[in-house]
Amino acid sequence: MAFTLAPLPYAHNALEPYIDARTMEIHHGKHHQAYVTNLNNAIKDSDWDKMSIEQILGSISKASPAIRNNGGGHYNHDLFWSILCPHGAHEYDRSLPVVQAIESELGGYEKFKTDLTQAGVTRFGSGWAWLYVKADGKLAICSTPNQDNPLMDIAENKGRPILGIDVWEHAYYLHYQNRRPDYLNAIFLIFNWQRINELYLAARK
Ligand code: MN
Repeated sequence: MAFTLAPLPYAHNALEPYIDARTMEIHHGKHHQAYVTNLNNAIKDSDWDKMSIEQILGSISKASPAIRNNGGGHYNHDLFWSILCPHGAHEYDRSLPVVQAIESELGGYEKFKTDLTQAGVTRFGSGWAWLYVKADGKLAICSTPNQDNPLMDIAENKGRPILGIDVWEHAYYLHYQNRRPDYLNAIFLIFNWQRINELYLAARK
């Protein structure tokens, strides 16, 4: 069963001025599409072809580099598009369980923002910064290289990701050039907290 690229849940220009339309067109239509195409080619006519993406990531230590890179790339970008939205800053609402958990477990919004930004800024080269739910149900922050993520059985920090920030240059270079910290500062204004809360609740079931 081949994986497919879902349409973006909003227009390419919906996240402007924080992420520009051209970046979204290339990032979704070219980069994410390439992960999907290359993943399908890598799993073709093998047992991996019968597994869900989460099953694949959970057994990734046994997979080829092509499955690891493109399977991670497909999962990570699906998550990334879903946790962004226009005007997200207005949604950081203390009635949401995930917001209450950030306040009680991660030291509040400012510390959360500082720590997640730091995870992204200090990731050398390409990778992701994550907010994830550990096996004990608590929130944590980490970063991973390349297209790895906390669902992978090889991950140093394991859990269920509920918010991921792409810090590959292709995510920000057209608008921000080398200024990754400026991109990270802006992206906090477009988080879809309703969606992140849904993922938080699902991860704790
Ligand atoms: Mn990307």
